[in-house]
Amino acid sequence: MAGFDSIIGNRQIKEHFEKAIQLNKISHGYILNGEDGMGKLELAKAFAQMVQCESTVKKPCMTCHSCKQFLSGNHPDIIYVKHEKPGVIGVDDIRTGINSDIVIKPYSSPYKIYIVDEAEKMSVQAQNALLKTIEEPPSYAIILLLTTNAEGFLPTILSRCMVLNLKPVSDQEMNSYLEKQGIDQTKIPTLIKFSRGNVGKAMRMAQSESFTTMIGQIMTLLKRADQMNINELLEFVTILTDYKLEIKDCLDFMQMWYRDVLMLKATNDLNLLLFKEEYSAIRDVGNKKSYETIEKIIQAIDTAKRRLDANVNFELTMEILLLALKEK
Ligand SMILES: [Zn+2]
Repeated sequence: MAGFDSIIGNRQIKEHFEKAIQLNKISHGYILNGEDGMGKLELAKAFAQMVQCESTVKKPCMTCHSCKQFLSGNHPDIIYVKHEKPGVIGVDDIRTGINSDIVIKPYSSPYKIYIVDEAEKMSVQAQNALLKTIEEPPSYAIILLLTTNAEGFLPTILSRCMVLNLKPVSDQEMNSYLEKQGIDQTKIPTLIKFSRGNVGKAMRMAQSESFTTMIGQIMTLLKRADQMNINELLEFVTILTDYKLEIKDCLDFMQMWYRDVLMLKATNDLNLLLFKEEYSAIRDVGNKKSYETIEKIIQAIDTAKRRLDANVNFELTMEILLLALKEK
């Protein structure tokens, strides 16, 4: 399958790109905005391949010189902008990776395409450096910024780029995709529920050996947190430590659970729940807590995510979070 055909979902973005190529109205700057795992890089790469393909057919031909270079990962005019430090894209990364390179004409294609992954890591100085290029780009330049948080960009960057927001894929699309990937049928409904339209996440969970056990243990924690004494609760920190690598998925799951608690308390409508089969446990938790407490817990989970991002001690972050679950 060529280009966009191999990517599920996000039809609007694909159509937008296809139309831009057909009408020869390609922007100099694009922002692809969406969660990790939603396929930003895949979309950007397929677009880049299509733009550079030498054939005149609608889809990348896969056989021309440009397509072959792309497929081998060595296209001289499709550039993946790298950054030296893992946590930040600094001003020097942008200067070296884009600004001083973009003035050199394309090597063999009509365009020169720069793909900046994790662009949310650009410092303000880096964004300002990039701005100069985005304001007066050479005619052949296309810059693709891939980000989990477009709102974090300077307004001047946003106004110079076409912002394309990725959307979750439908349950149906996800189902047929997972089937095609040969995922165990019995796992698919759970994966659809947890991934919430995020293909990368679904695949990661499908490939994780501990996923089912992890969900079972977290579920026990969430149902029983109110009855547990402090020692029992803190024992869970040890369990969570085993899932350190998947902790973001754990925390997402917790948030989905408390979202259900809140939803059921507010509406009493079973159909609005993600975890319908856990109806009675969800109702029990909701009965023991006020609206404010449930919201506080959801916020505490957010805070824990931020702390982990900021490299605050793992055990400490989890202890604080687990204690918050006991609030009435
Ligand atoms: Zn081609």
